[in-house]
Amino acid sequence: MTQIHAPEANVQTMDWMAAQIKMPYTLTPGQATGIFLAELAGRRLIGSRHGDEVLVPAQDFSGTTGEPASGFVEVAPVGTVQAFTTGAHGTLGIILIDGSTVPFVHQLLRIEPESLEVGTRVEAVWADEPTGGMLDLAGFAPLGSATTFEPKADPADLAAAFQKVDYTMTLDYQHAYGPYYGTLFDGVKSGRRIRGVKCSNCRRLLLPPRAQCDVCLAPTAEWVDVEPVGTVQASSVVHIEFIGQRLSPPYVYAEIVLDGTSTRLIHMIGDVDPTVAQSAAAPGARVRAVWSDRHTGSLADIDHFELVPAEADA
Ligand SMILES: [Zn+2]
Repeated sequence: MTQIHAPEANVQTMDWMAAQIKMPYTLTPGQATGIFLAELAGRRLIGSRHGDEVLVPAQDFSGTTGEPASGFVEVAPVGTVQAFTTGAHGTLGIILIDGSTVPFVHQLLRIEPESLEVGTRVEAVWADEPTGGMLDLAGFAPLGSATTFEPKADPADLAAAFQKVDYTMTLDYQHAYGPYYGTLFDGVKSGRRIRGVKCSNCRRLLLPPRAQCDVCLAPTAEWVDVEPVGTVQASSVVHIEFIGQRLSPPYVYAEIVLDGTSTRLIHMIGDVDPTVAQSAAAPGARVRAVWSDRHTGSLADIDHFELVPAEADA
């Protein structure tokens, strides 16, 4: 059994933080799906012909035979539920559109779950404002009245296919800290206190704290408060912009060894002209943390490090 040398009993350890990965990109839908999406704005459902198959949404190639689309056809915005499942976010159905040969998955809306069954007839529900995406077709709802369908689109005169569609993939998750990072980040957040742990064998002071020494692999054994003062080990001027930056380039990034620790911390050095950083923030320069007014429980609560004049660092 691993014994965790817990921090002081009155310290509330931060367990996790909310985190997010966000990836904006553009999707090139291809001709068939591009036409399908473009026609949704006109509240028309377009399928593609592949021999005897009609696929809705339109596809460039059949998923079963690989046959390329030989043409496009407007289909009625009505269909039949072939299967469905209900979860926390609503009901999803597998819907076979009239005139198509392969069903597809979409939301079922305005559904009374007890009245829904395989074979329920449904009709398209359109978004109030088209945005150029699949949800311009908001979903399907039970057929309210006799829907008469008259194709309006001449397949030879379809809207120009979308060449690209803007997408953002977003992943929300919780980043679990565990007892070591949790203790460090709680101290930073609530008391502006930086703590590392000492290896039981080689006595290196590790920051961020961890269960085992990464040099001799012995368990760590003792929490130690670390002053927010240290020495630059290396520095660099960042000129390139990238997502997630807190400062606009150019700014100075540095590896900093806080006094007493055996590990390096990467942070920014503020209040230094990047053009003279090579000498002003050279290895050996003394720096001190400047706390921000943020209390997020991370090392970003340190706004930046500032240079400490040699004579003031006695
Ligand atoms: Zn060690």
